[in-house]
Amino acid sequence: MRLSQSFIPTMRQDPGEAEVVSHRLMLRAGMIRKVAAGIYSYLPLGLRVIRKIESIVRDEMNRAGAQELLLPILSPAELWQETDRWDFYGKELVRLQDRHERDFCLGPTHEEVVTDLFRREVQSYRQLPLTLYQIQTKFRDEIRPRFGLMRGREFIMKDAYSFDQNETDAQRNYQRMYDAYCRIFSRTGLNFRPVEADTGLIGGISSHEFMVLANTGEELIVFDPDSQYAANVERAEVVAPPVKEPGALSPLEKVSTPNAKSVEDLCALLKIEASLVVKTLLYHTGDNEITAVLIRGDHHANEIKIQRFLGLHDLSLASPELVEKVTAAPVGFVGPVGLSNVRILADNAVSALANFIVGGNETDVHLINVNQPRDFAIDDWGDFRQAQAGDPSPKSGAPLQTARGIEVGHVFMLGTKYSEKMGATYLDSEGQKHHAIMGCYGIGIGRTAAAAIEQNHDEKGICWPMPIAPFQVQILPVTSSEAVRLASEQLYEELNQQQIEVLLDDRNERGGVKFNDADIIGTPFHIIIGDKGLANQALEIKDRKTGEKVLLPPNQVADWIRKAVTQQLHMES
Ligand code: ATP
Ligand code: MG
Repeated sequence: MRLSQSFIPTMRQDPGEAEVVSHRLMLRAGMIRKVAAGIYSYLPLGLRVIRKIESIVRDEMNRAGAQELLLPILSPAELWQETDRWDFYGKELVRLQDRHERDFCLGPTHEEVVTDLFRREVQSYRQLPLTLYQIQTKFRDEIRPRFGLMRGREFIMKDAYSFDQNETDAQRNYQRMYDAYCRIFSRTGLNFRPVEADTGLIGGISSHEFMVLANTGEELIVFDPDSQYAANVERAEVVAPPVKEPGALSPLEKVSTPNAKSVEDLCALLKIEASLVVKTLLYHTGDNEITAVLIRGDHHANEIKIQRFLGLHDLSLASPELVEKVTAAPVGFVGPVGLSNVRILADNAVSALANFIVGGNETDVHLINVNQPRDFAIDDWGDFRQAQAGDPSPKSGAPLQTARGIEVGHVFMLGTKYSEKMGATYLDSEGQKHHAIMGCYGIGIGRTAAAAIEQNHDEKGICWPMPIAPFQVQILPVTSSEAVRLASEQLYEELNQQQIEVLLDDRNERGGVKFNDADIIGTPFHIIIGDKGLANQALEIKDRKTGEKVLLPPNQVADWIRKAVTQQLHMES
């Protein structure tokens, strides 16, 4: 491709609207443009990257035995009402009506539509296993669309759905998808890690997220130093501390703590460590019903674990009005001692504490030297907090480390959740009817492109991994002589003939402008052609990522490039 004829509107200045590197560089490289919040046009350069990722995904899905189809974007409300997701999905679901005022939505995911297809078309065990996938635009009216393609409202996803006869087959299919995901992300050239993820109310560990490791990631993960174990903190199990021998228990005392509503304020005032404080979090768990959860002051509550323990779909803190109504205690000073009408759950870490500090259920009062069960009773113990660095690994016991990641893919064992609600059954060899066991498997295509940039860039621009680079080589004629023009044209022809994806910067621009654009766009190899190089029979090839330079006679350049490109393409697969 010739840059003079391409629509690649690079930007010299930093766009103000971008909060993260990938968003900024996609705009600056002329890959995408914003149309509305969370809605983008993919310009030619951006689309090339998207198509490359899609092609790797498609290749590995086919290899894993999945079959591609294309389901409609628009789907009728009735299907979503069958699974209750018409209500449950809330505002994230983009709803609309047709001219007959019938309700539809724009698919945020396709379990309903694919399960409907299955129940109409599949009757016998002989038609199983079945795995179907598509690569398609999804719509989710995210509360906070941001970071460009990372969290859009309209975005491209690969979604796959598996149907199996029994647990064993379903697990095998799940594993096959898991392995395909590992190959996909290795082939894109990304540094990633599969981590155990939350399974909601289904239980088990048949849910993994694929995280691209990057400091800007929205997700926090914990992992073993020896990589035996990795999990999203939402999911990571915290091992209960050893039971502590009861030492000397001091008498309970009231202390005055004016305005000390937070753990920090309290610690500063009483000159104590946060690990001696026990927070009492109050959740709204039913009509006029509150559940208290006790968490050590230096730990963070994990609402997903609490929610799962309580068997609820969502969880929110009780409003100050409800707190005062049910407990008669002011927010910020609630504690478990004397708290009536409230179920009390405690995180396991609280069991190892003695003589700790809690709210006094009176304004500006806390209690010190509190002990359980002497001073109050706990209804249920459990793992209710978030794992953190230094906690022992549930696998090896070694201290866990933390890292940030970007969730680019998700594999999930659904079980019979959808097949039961929608009556998706098959007959076994004895003519018995069963619900199909399902799995679903998503990859964010645009988010993967963005994550690749978060992981591969420097202060000048993008440094694409070869397998997903929009072009493999860029030719930069840096002086305007006829000799340079001819040599550039000749090399351009030669590389094209060798099926190398080459961008020729044939614009009438200064060398500096060309260098800047090439660095922003991030083509893996730059070939610099100037009069001096031609005279010396030494053209410069620059590796965008390492900055390494090689000097070669013009007639050896194409061959060198072909070998280097081929090597980098196959390194990961
Ligand atoms: P998140 O927790 O980030 O909102 P999710 O759990 O809602 O993700 P899934 O429903 O599992 O995501 O979707 C499958 C994949 O689609 C995700 O792993 C992610 O790569 C991608 N994805 C999800 N939401 C978005 C979005 N708003 N913009 C871009 N990609 C997305
Ligand atoms: Mg989401």
